[in-house]
Amino acid sequence: MRALLVIVMLALFPAVAKAQSMEQGSHSLVDLSHAYNQETLYWPTSPTRFEHDELAFGITPGGWFYSAYSFSMPEHGGTHIDAPMHFAEGRWALDEIPLETLIGTAVVIDISHLIGDDADYRLSLADVLAFEAKHGQIPEHSILLLMTGWSERWPNARDYLGDDTPGDASNLHFPGFGEDATRFLVEERRVKMLGIDTASIDYGQSADFPAHRIAYEANVPGLENLTNLHLLPVIGAMIVALPIKIEGGSGGPVRVVAMLP
Ligand SMILES: [Zn+2]
Repeated sequence: MRALLVIVMLALFPAVAKAQSMEQGSHSLVDLSHAYNQETLYWPTSPTRFEHDELAFGITPGGWFYSAYSFSMPEHGGTHIDAPMHFAEGRWALDEIPLETLIGTAVVIDISHLIGDDADYRLSLADVLAFEAKHGQIPEHSILLLMTGWSERWPNARDYLGDDTPGDASNLHFPGFGEDATRFLVEERRVKMLGIDTASIDYGQSADFPAHRIAYEANVPGLENLTNLHLLPVIGAMIVALPIKIEGGSGGPVRVVAMLP
């Protein structure tokens, strides 16, 4: 009976249907962060990984439950943000990145179909121009997310990074932003943040990290190790990327959420 009433209401009053979908807001939220755990991937040269140590777990003498842990980790592992200061002295540290930079509209460039067997693939300027020919010019101050499909390989280090040799970062293979594309996006399209579903905005074989240097010099932070980018529309998802607020930090873990239009 109640269901029937709802159906009649929805038919008579479309505004009711809209209000209900707004109420069910959790359906339109997408989590773009991996969880931190013992499998969380770090750069092969990282001295430590995510550590989560129990301080208390169980029933207290007073009869109630109580749990608490300590955690520690290098700044750059898991789903994290690079503050511009990571590669550009004098640019924003983690706590200095304005909230206006961390929240904004996403543009998703999907290169997963272009990569094929080439794990060293880099987004080219031609790729960006081809994207714009199809979808229109990338709006100023967009958050530019590059989808490679690499998230499916998480958390297998060998598949995701290309190599799982501890202490050796010379044999890494995964896609990234190319130098010309990065310069164009930062300088001509004035994007305010970059993001990618791999371990680095530069591709795995990079030795001089041009994407890091170009973007961070321009105070454009980078989101790394994102996931679920395939659930986003090409343009229009609202991104909220709030990192831990470490004063003077060069980066840190970030919970990235997309609100779908
Ligand atoms: Zn980083």
